[in-house]
Amino acid sequence: MARWRVRRIAFLILLMGAWWPGAVAAEPSVLGVRAGEHLTMTRFVLDLSERVEFQIFTLANPYRIVIDLPEMNWQIPPHALEKGKGVIQGFRYGLFTAGTSRVVLDVNRPVTVKKAFLLNPIGQHSYRFVLDLEAVSKEAFEHSRDKAAPPKVAALPVPPPASKNGAKPLVVIDPGHGGVDPGALSGSGLQEKGVTLDVARKLKQKLEATGRYRAMLTRDRDIFIPLRSRVAMAREAEADLFISLHADSHPNHRTMGASIYTLSEKASDKEAAAQAANENKADIIAGMDFSGTDPVLADILIDIAQRDSLNSSLSFCYLLIKEMGKVTRLVRNTRRSAGFAVLKAPDIPSVLVEMGYLSNRQEEKLLRDGGHRSRLADAIVKATDRFFAGRDL
Ligand SMILES: [Zn+2]
Repeated sequence: MARWRVRRIAFLILLMGAWWPGAVAAEPSVLGVRAGEHLTMTRFVLDLSERVEFQIFTLANPYRIVIDLPEMNWQIPPHALEKGKGVIQGFRYGLFTAGTSRVVLDVNRPVTVKKAFLLNPIGQHSYRFVLDLEAVSKEAFEHSRDKAAPPKVAALPVPPPASKNGAKPLVVIDPGHGGVDPGALSGSGLQEKGVTLDVARKLKQKLEATGRYRAMLTRDRDIFIPLRSRVAMAREAEADLFISLHADSHPNHRTMGASIYTLSEKASDKEAAAQAANENKADIIAGMDFSGTDPVLADILIDIAQRDSLNSSLSFCYLLIKEMGKVTRLVRNTRRSAGFAVLKAPDIPSVLVEMGYLSNRQEEKLLRDGGHRSRLADAIVKATDRFFAGRDL
C-alpha cells in the first residue's frame, strides 16, 4: 500500500488568557458553522462559546484540512454546511479521541491556510474561529510542507485481561464508525454510527445474559477508532469471534436488505468491492494521518492460519444468514466477501454485518426502531450459540 503523503502546516494557535467571568459551562460549545467565498479565499467560521486551543494541519490523498480542538459540545444543526462552499466540499465533526474533537474539511484541490484566528465576541456574535483557505498549485502545496511531527494516533484502550484456558468464549463486537466519522446517513439524518452502537450494546448485554460468553465492545461511546485499532483490540483480548456492525447506503434508494461479509483478497462481486472500499475509507474520513505508522497490519497476508479462521468465518456467516433471515430482509447474494480492513485479524473468525440500508425509507424506519434492533441482536445471539455449539466449546 502506498505510503500516505502527509502535508502539514503547523499551526498551533494558543489562544491563552482572557478568562471570561460570565462563562460557567464545563464544556466549550460550537454554536454555529458557516463558510463563504471572499474573492480568491474560502472562509470557514465556527461560532464558539469560549476561547479554545486549536491545531490545524493539512493532509493529501485526498486533500483535507483537519482542525483539532478540545472535546466540544456540538450545538449545530445536523445538515450544517452539507453542500460545501468554495474549495470546501465536505464537512465532518465529532470526537476523535477522548479529549479531542476534530473537524475535517474535504477540499477539492490543494489549498494553503492563509490565516487562522479567533475573534472576540462583538454585538450578537460570540467568539468566532476563522480559517481562510486559498487554492494553490500542487507544487506550492508541497513546498508549504512543514517538518513538524504529525499528531499521533490515539493509544489503544487496554482490553480486560482474558485467560483463554477454561474461560468463556470472548465475542468482540465492533460498532462501525463513530465520532468524526458518522458512516452512512439517511435522508432524515439518522447516522450509521448511532445505529451500530445501539445494536452493539444490545448484543453485548444479550450475549452476557446467556451466561455463556464474555463480550467486549471496540467502542462504547461516540468516538472515532481507527480500523487497525479495532482489529488490534480484538487480537490483544484474544477474541474468539469478531462481529463488526454496519448499515449501508445506496444511491438507488430502492435497494434494501441485510448482507454479511467475510474477508477475501478478491471481492466476490463489484458491489462487494465497492462496499469494502467505502468502509475502508473510515480512517480517511476521520482525517487520519498514516505517516510513520507501522505497516504490519496493512501487510498481513492470508496464510494458513488465516485460512482456518476464514473457514470458521464462513460457517458463522451461514448461521447468521439463517438467523437474520428470520427477522429481516436479506439482499439476494447475502454472503459476500471483500477486502475489509476491519476483518483482517488472521487468527479470529470475523464477519461484517451490514444490517440494512439507511438510504431506503422502509429500512431506515426499521433501523430506527428499538424493537427491530433488539430482534437483530437476538438473531446474532442465536447464530453465535449455534457457532460455538458446533465448535464444542
Ligand atoms: Zn459502515
